[in-house]
Amino acid sequence: MNATTLSIGDELALGQIDDTNARWITERLAAEGAFRVEHRTVPDDRKRIVQAIRDLAELSELLVITGGLGPTLDDLTRDALNDCCAGGAAMVEDSLARETLDRWFRGRGRAMPPSNLVQAQRPVNARCLDNPHGTAPGLSADLERTKVFCLPGPPREMRPMFEANVVPFLRERCGDVVMPTLSVHSYGMGESVLAERLGERMSRDADPMVGTNASNAIVTARIRTSGPRLEAMARIEAMASEVERLWRPYAFGRDGTTLAMATIADLKARQESVAVAESCTGGLIGALLTDVAGASDVVLGGYIVYSNDMKVRAVGVDRSILAAHGAVSEPVARQLAAGARERTRATWGIGVTGIAGPSGGTPTKPVGTVFIGIAGPMGERVRRFRFPGEREVVRDRTAKAAMQWLRLAMMGEPDTDLIWAHAEAPAAERENRDHA
Ligand code: ATP
Repeated sequence: MNATTLSIGDELALGQIDDTNARWITERLAAEGAFRVEHRTVPDDRKRIVQAIRDLAELSELLVITGGLGPTLDDLTRDALNDCCAGGAAMVEDSLARETLDRWFRGRGRAMPPSNLVQAQRPVNARCLDNPHGTAPGLSADLERTKVFCLPGPPREMRPMFEANVVPFLRERCGDVVMPTLSVHSYGMGESVLAERLGERMSRDADPMVGTNASNAIVTARIRTSGPRLEAMARIEAMASEVERLWRPYAFGRDGTTLAMATIADLKARQESVAVAESCTGGLIGALLTDVAGASDVVLGGYIVYSNDMKVRAVGVDRSILAAHGAVSEPVARQLAAGARERTRATWGIGVTGIAGPSGGTPTKPVGTVFIGIAGPMGERVRRFRFPGEREVVRDRTAKAAMQWLRLAMMGEPDTDLIWAHAEAPAAERENRDHA
């Protein structure tokens, strides 16, 4: 089935907010078997909304509109739909929508502003759709052969309403044919090498079709196919398992899984724990790990040890080692990891020290040089990395490398190649003026 989407609002037309609705809806449409053939964004302008509805309805059997259903003067979707499906005739008050509005305000102990009443109005031949998370009901109407759904703009209101109204329509119309997608994420190897591993599976006429993309150093395989639901799901699942096998040990999760989630899941599965001592990342690794719900079972805590003094006092780094090797050095990363592990009695300790930039680099330790240490049952290991990019990028890549390396160490593969990891620092390297 062909579908179209329309996003309404000045903020969207002016580029002030990202159109996340369009992306989310398009993916959901595809998963349910509808192909989006066109998308349009229009400002809060009744004439232009009407024109867009007419144009898009010509192209598709389903049109999903978001935004412009609020109670203010710039919310014009209701009027525009009325122009299209009822020729601008007087609208009627929907008794169910009115009741819902009354209940919504009563439940919050607030009087309903008269302006909200407009939200209970609908074109005479349209239907109101319940909005469990806000005051703006949705609308649905038929424009000749096209089913039109108008949903509110806020994603947390729109998404459940899409599931409750658009999905049943799609299932009835598309029957059993779906176009599911599945993503497999990896970290630690460049995209071209990973793409090579996939070989012919990436050819444009393969089914399922596999494409790769890299974003913030995470390389993702996007797999898609189409066909009867059960068959398509089985095909896509089999290909995802194959990609995971070919990308071993770098693949860490599917769809919404982050590296931090995968790390926490691995720790939980092994009933092990971790603690961190962070210099150049200033708590970023701890923040990413504790962002994951349930992290408290396996993340014991951490130290932000930015100054040399803190490295000594909080984690027990040797002053003499700092003096001899500098803060950004292999032995300091080793002691940070070991100190974090010992002081917290965690199974694993992570220690990071490096030069995130923009200043602080030296010829032997340029900006982007980071030492990551991992201490665990297998002993202590340190690797020297040289991350490209700005301060933020260096910190982000450091955190990702540390989490992925911990996962590899847990799998018993601590020596696996990792992108941007270099051989150990030359023994002759001695610097006292490092910044961590
Ligand atoms: P409300 O009753 O909440 O005003 P509405 O249907 O009138 O609902 P809009 O006023 O158009 O919605 O948008 C409200 C907010 O919803 C926007 O400020 C924005 O934060 C979010 N929003 C709207 N459209 C989109 C979109 N396409 N993608 C992501 N967010 C959106």
